[in-house]
Order: sequence, then C-alpha cells, then structure tokens
Amino acid sequence: MKTAVVTSFTVPLEIVERSIPEPGEGEVLVRLETSGLCHTDIHAAHGDWPVKPTLPFVPGHEGIGIVERLGAGVTDRAIGERVAIPWLGYACGECRYCIDGRETLCERQRNSGYSVDGAFAEYAVASARYVVPVPEGISPLDAAPLTCAGVTTYKALKVAHIVPSEKVAVFGIGGLGHLAVQYARLFGGEVIAVDVENPKLDLATRLGADHVVNAAEGDPVAAIKAVGGADVAVVLAASPRVFEQAFASLNRGGRLICVALPADQDMHISIFETVLKGISVIGSIVGTRQDLAEVFALHAAGRTTIIAEGRTLDQVNGAMAEVLSGQVLARLVFEF
Ligand SMILES: [Zn+2]
Ligand SMILES: [Zn+2]
Repeated sequence: MKTAVVTSFTVPLEIVERSIPEPGEGEVLVRLETSGLCHTDIHAAHGDWPVKPTLPFVPGHEGIGIVERLGAGVTDRAIGERVAIPWLGYACGECRYCIDGRETLCERQRNSGYSVDGAFAEYAVASARYVVPVPEGISPLDAAPLTCAGVTTYKALKVAHIVPSEKVAVFGIGGLGHLAVQYARLFGGEVIAVDVENPKLDLATRLGADHVVNAAEGDPVAAIKAVGGADVAVVLAASPRVFEQAFASLNRGGRLICVALPADQDMHISIFETVLKGISVIGSIVGTRQDLAEVFALHAAGRTTIIAEGRTLDQVNGAMAEVLSGQVLARLVFEF
C-alpha cells in the first residue's frame, strides 16, 4: 500500500510502499477513501511541538474509509461500514476524564498520525472503539474535514457557552475557521470573522459571517470594538500575537478560546484586565466521539457546508507548502 512517511523533521515526506497492516485485538483495518490535511500534520512533520512524534511515522487524523477487516474481539463495528479515524485514536476508557465525558484529556490517549500511524496511507489500523461511524449521505470528501477541523471548532464553540445574540470573533479563516463561522451561527452568535486574506473573508461572508475584519489592513482590536467588541474570541491562527489581539477585543465577561498551537508558546495577557473584566481563558482540544457524532449529524441535516479541494497522496509535500503559503481557501483532502 502507498504510504506517506515522515522520516526526519527536516526533510520532505517520503512516499513508500508498505505491506497492508494486520488489525490487532480490538482494532479494525480501514481502507482509506479520503484523508484531510490539517495544520497539525505539518507541525508533526516538522517536529514543532515540545512533545515530538517518534520517527518514522505516518501523519493524518482526518481519515475516512471503509472497514475491511475486524481484529479479534471486535463486535461493535462491521465490515463495509464507513468510519472516521480522528485525532483521538485511543483513550483508556477508565480514568476520571474518560468516565466523566472528557476523554480528550485522557493521559493514556494515543493520537492518530502522531503517537500511532495515521491516515496518510491507503490502509490504516485503528482502535474499533475510537473510530466514529460516518452517517449515510455524507461524502468522504466532506467527512474528512469534519473529523478534525469540524469537531475541533464545534467543541471550541460548545465550551464557550454562547448565549444567542452574543458576538463571536473567529480569528483565522481556513480549514477550521470556515467551520467555526458556521457553528458560531448555529449556536446563535453574531459572527465577526478575522483574517489577513480577503478571499478568506469573502468565504466567511458567504458562510454567514455578519462582519469581517482584515487584520492586515488596520488594527483588528479597534475594528472589533467598533462593532461592539467580542463576547467570545476563538483563536485558530497559530501566532501568539493573534491570541493577544483576541484577548484585547473581548468585552467584560468575555471568553478567550485557545485552539491553535503555535510553535512559539508564550502569550502575554494582563492579569488586571482578566480579573476586573471577569474574563475566562479556556483551552479546547479537539472533541470527543460524541462531539464528532453531533458534527456529522449537523452536516447530514444540511446545516454545514464544507469547502475542500482534492489532492493525491503523491502531492503531499506540495500540499503542505500550499497550506503554509496561506493560499488554500479552506481544506485540502487526499483522495485515494
Ligand atoms: Zn487536526
Ligand atoms: Zn482515560
């Protein structure tokens, strides 16, 4: 099977032929149909973060495919079923986080395309309990971006506890941002989209943003204040400076939702402002299997629109360069 492998943090990915893996106990073998390219895959391939993946590894955590074989003991998945392989590849199911509905905080979790081989391959093995069924009527091209970009932004807006009519600023329109705009609308927010590229702001408007701010053409904080300030600011742009701008744009009682993971880890915010304005700073990491099921249900009901372009796995290095250039409107998805 064709596989894209990271062999070093400083050289391009290699396309190699590998034998199709055997599903172990509790695992399924999935024949991939599509696999989305997330910015996290690029951070992983470059070894950008404090905890680095063990080389060599296969990235990819927006894998969509058909279950072809069942490992020993698997009874809850069926051959022929379409499933998603998300970032949360495995969790223990027993710790305090797993049993109270916060499985994405499990300390024994394994992450697809990071700590275990992911979906940049024609086949992947995955934990049967942690793949998520894709409902009828959702195409593999749409399902892939929903599996990380969708669930991550849906969860970020869920934890913001938006009251309808609150103003929600989304910093960074792209794979995640184009979905964040739509979920913010579904939660009842008045949406302010912030980016530095006008084509992305036009996309945000088409997807329902009420206001757009080009942060390259002026002070985004002043522009957001001019339309009433933000009650919730979701940061999807991997730059500490954007987090600081998002914080500064908040109204009293505001919530800063941190999602992007910049290689540079330090942001500076005022303790005084945080206390006096009653601001909450919240980290949100992907979403649970249930969150992903909700994301799929919303899409199947016609509530969300996916903007994605297909690529082949052979184009993996070029596709990563396209994402880094900022020229990709929303999501690139490898099609097999
Ligand atoms: Zn991702
Ligand atoms: Zn656990």
